[in-house]
Amino acid sequence: RGIIDSFSSILNEESKKDPSVSSSSTSSESMNGIDGVPVTNERIAYKLKGYFDLAKEEIAKGVRAEEWGLHDDALLHYRNAQRIMNEATSTPSPSYISSSEKEKVRSYREKISNWQNQVSERLQALGKRTGVGMSENKRTVAYPSSASVSSTASRYRKTLSQKTPVARGGVATPRNPKDAAASPKPVKESGNVYDDKLVEMINTTIVDRSPSVKWDDVAGLNGAKQALLEMVILPAKRRDLFTGLRRPARGLLLFGPPGNGKTMLAKAVASESQATFFNVSASSLTSKWVGEAEKLVKTLFQVAISRQPSVIFMDEIDSIMSTRSTSENEASRRLKSEFLIQFDGVTSNPDDLVIVIGATNKPQELDDAVLRRLVKRIYVPLPDSNVRKLLFKTKLKCQPHSLSDGDIDKIVKETEGYSGSDLQALCEEAAMMPIRELGANILTIQANKVRSLRYDDFRKSMAVIRPSLSKSKWEELERWNSEFGSN
Ligand code: ATP
Ligand code: MG
Repeated sequence: RGIIDSFSSILNEESKKDPSVSSSSTSSESMNGIDGVPVTNERIAYKLKGYFDLAKEEIAKGVRAEEWGLHDDALLHYRNAQRIMNEATSTPSPSYISSSEKEKVRSYREKISNWQNQVSERLQALGKRTGVGMSENKRTVAYPSSASVSSTASRYRKTLSQKTPVARGGVATPRNPKDAAASPKPVKESGNVYDDKLVEMINTTIVDRSPSVKWDDVAGLNGAKQALLEMVILPAKRRDLFTGLRRPARGLLLFGPPGNGKTMLAKAVASESQATFFNVSASSLTSKWVGEAEKLVKTLFQVAISRQPSVIFMDEIDSIMSTRSTSENEASRRLKSEFLIQFDGVTSNPDDLVIVIGATNKPQELDDAVLRRLVKRIYVPLPDSNVRKLLFKTKLKCQPHSLSDGDIDKIVKETEGYSGSDLQALCEEAAMMPIRELGANILTIQANKVRSLRYDDFRKSMAVIRPSLSKSKWEELERWNSEFGSN
């Protein structure tokens, strides 16, 4: 608390503008030199002021986040501030420098170094409170539930080391020299700290190497798996084979009723393919800390190109790329058109392997222009009886039960219309039945004395857990599939 106060007082003091390096002095007059001071000397003070202002902004955000109890956000902002200030301190002063200039530079350096100490202190304090591994974990992994802390921490280190070539050297993959002029600019323009921040944010919050779901964990969905294999997994492994006519489609839409494995499939792609996986959610694009979503989209595609082969996965894509009708504001319109421009950029360059995968359960609401670019559209339907049987068998594997094959067939028949997640809920409910019968004995009974599951438990649970998809919704999706789907 005390340190936050002292920070705040510094911030307030700094907001009284420093007249010696005011923004108006960037006018052409000053670029020609004021009072005979050569331009090069002026620049170091401007540069430091630039770093100084950026760092100030980040620190202010960090302090605010800390006040709100958002420790992860605070850590992120303090780290950004630290990086900016490190760049400032590593900027050398020119050998010739006028004495008034020298004074300004000295004063900035002093203030920056003072802040550096305080920021390190805050980082240390916050690190202790949240456990640094944990907070990195949250920022790195979009699916925090299943991965263990240590494995994600090591993954974070990997992310950091992978990131370095992007941040330092711009586009890392060699590109066709003839279209170098037309190709997107390198990720890092020298001195553009703001872009660095976006790149950092993309690398920490959006890049995902989630190992949690394996290919075989996803039951059924063979059509979808085959398409992903041909579009993403194999081309990433054998780029030489997938050229010319075999060049994979760049846009894929997974659509279908909720809870049938769309997100799961994408997670499996992330863990099984060698492509860099960018997991973009509506919240990461519209985060209040970022503000300029379309700039983020632009940078996202640039980073994806530089780290290709890449997959950009947009879950619930309808919420970002919906048609005009639903309360569209200026910001989301700009975001959408930036996405279209960038996507056309990567599809038109035959050397780029950047694939966009969208997932939605409301394909009808997708913007037409976006839909047109997601050329391959794969229906992820409700599980049929074979898939339901497979799901039951895998779920029952880890639970003692006395169900015969005939019982399982009966359950499979009775769960027509259940989605994958409904079935999961049904099994969980059934598994609770023997526990509920125990009453007060639950505290004393030995674990292996709990009775095994039987058919009756499932039958009772079916009264509680009903299929979540209404018939009309299902019919609507089926109709959309026959009109727009690829299979
Ligand atoms: P939504 O449209 O609501 O985002 P979704 O299609 O993305 O739904 P998932 O999140 O992938 O659905 O699946 C929800 C849960 O249902 C999974 O965590 C899993 O437990 C179970 N499930 C669904 N489909 C399958 C499947 N094919 N194989 C194994 N488990 C499945
Ligand atoms: Mg989903």
